[in-house]
Amino acid sequence: MKVLAFGAHPDDLEIGMGGTIARYAARGHEVLMVVATVPNRKENRVPEAEEAAAILGADLVVMDIVPDELVFSRQLVRQFDQVFNGYAPDVVYTHSNNDSHQDHAAVTNAVIATTRKNDCSVYMYEQTIPGGIAPNQFHGQYYVDISDCIAQKLDSIMAHRTQLDTYGPWWLEGIKGRAMYHGFKINVKYAEVFEVIKDIAIW
Ligand SMILES: [Zn+2]
Repeated sequence: MKVLAFGAHPDDLEIGMGGTIARYAARGHEVLMVVATVPNRKENRVPEAEEAAAILGADLVVMDIVPDELVFSRQLVRQFDQVFNGYAPDVVYTHSNNDSHQDHAAVTNAVIATTRKNDCSVYMYEQTIPGGIAPNQFHGQYYVDISDCIAQKLDSIMAHRTQLDTYGPWWLEGIKGRAMYHGFKINVKYAEVFEVIKDIAIW
């Protein structure tokens, strides 16, 4: 299976679905992580993203769109179309369309347009930044047991040293706690959960 995962910034994919990426990779599936923009400290954050992708066993593309140009537009959809058509994924992941961050919402709007042919499944991961309560609650339906991959998920997040310095250790604890909370709901140690936009059977 080919999995294409879109994130607005370095670290979004690791927080939202790092365990799921590691699980796909461990089972022999191909995963391409796409980072749309690097808002600051590019010289640090690109190598951090590369290190994190390697920890998860995924490939990485940094699109490096100018932050102010990351808006839902024909241009952004064209850029995403290029990545999408070049990769031909079976499954696509993106931010929640209820995410409070404008960059995250722009990515998801463009992903929905890019996957308009409905030849792949599309799932959304939870809000990745601390805080940011939005009007519509995330309604997770698709659970992935990441108990075997939690160490890789946390290691991949710790690779983003600039962010760990900014947010502190409680940030990592919160992400781990959320995985534990989702795991509890399906009676495993750790899980990630996704909202389904469309689920296209490929068997
Ligand atoms: Zn982000």
